[in-house]
Amino acid sequence: MRNGSRAWPSSLLPASTTAPELGREPWRGPAEPDDAAARARAAKLRERLGPDGDRARIVRAPGRVNLIGEYTDFNLGFVLPAAIGLEVWIAFVPWERPEVELSSVEMDETRSFSLDGLTPPESPERSWIDYVAATAWAMAEAGLTVRGFRGVLDSTVPVGSGLSSSAALEMASSWALADPAAPRPEPSRMAVIAQRGENAYVGVNCGIMDQFASAAGKAGHALLIDCRSNTATAAAMPPNLSLVVCDTAAPRRLGSSAYNTRRAECEEGVRLIAEHEPGVRSLRDVDAAMLERYRHLLPDVVARRCEHVVHENDRVLAAVAALEAGDLEAVRRLFAESHESLRDLFEVSSAELDVMVEISGQVPGVVASRMTGAGFGGCTISLVRPGAEEALRDRVMDLYPRRTGLDPRVYVVQAVDGAGPVAGG
Ligand code: ADP
Ligand code: MG
Repeated sequence: MRNGSRAWPSSLLPASTTAPELGREPWRGPAEPDDAAARARAAKLRERLGPDGDRARIVRAPGRVNLIGEYTDFNLGFVLPAAIGLEVWIAFVPWERPEVELSSVEMDETRSFSLDGLTPPESPERSWIDYVAATAWAMAEAGLTVRGFRGVLDSTVPVGSGLSSSAALEMASSWALADPAAPRPEPSRMAVIAQRGENAYVGVNCGIMDQFASAAGKAGHALLIDCRSNTATAAAMPPNLSLVVCDTAAPRRLGSSAYNTRRAECEEGVRLIAEHEPGVRSLRDVDAAMLERYRHLLPDVVARRCEHVVHENDRVLAAVAALEAGDLEAVRRLFAESHESLRDLFEVSSAELDVMVEISGQVPGVVASRMTGAGFGGCTISLVRPGAEEALRDRVMDLYPRRTGLDPRVYVVQAVDGAGPVAGG
């Protein structure tokens, strides 16, 4: 600690130096009775492809929800997302020519682009096809062979709600674009490639969490991602818990400017502390005692931002331990502390998110509830005892509109495997 580099208990750190080989097996789809729904979905996609449909391959990639660890990613700390059963599916037929033609059912639009001479646009137009082109560009840049295809994409990931429809689109695209005869990089490597595409080609400054979760998720598990080393370990979810995502349907006010301000405030905290602790490179290296030692040197707002991040990292590791031990009381407390810290110290919650958490917390069977994602709107995540999902949905659908005037959406989801081919697809 003297050199400023924080000593994390090694038993809590991801043990692997390379990401686990997750999400590589063909996805077998949800257990009965939803298999029928998966088959119907595949059949519908084939039908949309027309006469080629019978020989089409189908790949899928999930959205994700972050269980805990907010604004810790760019501070090189820990996050705990789970890949969830809201997914982008692409049915496609490879083409000999270097061209992609893709139809989006949700956008009701067909777009195409050439794989030859792809370069990041000067001023990105941010059309949805850019996410596919970005992935192709980044794969080629990383030395992977990309192939053209004609395909149809269909998604159950709500767009722009913070459940990472964009990363799901990228990861599904990466499977459609890849040469099936070539060895596929590790999921963690594909995540870095897709993130580079979204950063440099689409022009969105996202962290690694979304692509990592979509690429490397594991059924029944959350992923503890170390955002400094880009490695992950799978953390088992207690089998007796359901995930329920509640979308506040609130417009995202202030989103990107507040994000940039928070980033700058965290960087200022690091800079001021590092003047005295040269080993400190990010808030990952700062613990609570060190922060208290230098707190008087930090502007109050910077100190509060740092306090959130430092304790949120601790909470992520504590949550992994609590989930694995089945200590639901500890999970409840950690979720509540995380939400309060995001509301009061980091100041990224909103009236709607607070109301949603308050309503959820009053429903019997709801174990833990907090805002998830960047805040200012978006979703909450609740961990719920099986059987209480519908009670939560009913209560939210009844009370939330009365208190906010907004129409919420409620998704009961499971933690699923990361992106890959659909079995039989
Ligand atoms: P999110 O939180 O859902 O990832 P983003 O703003 O990062 O929100 O990404 C949303 C964008 O991803 C959409 O505007 C669109 O360009 C693309 N996208 C997501 N889902 C689809 C889809 N089903 N069809 C076409 N484009 C999609
Ligand atoms: Mg996104």
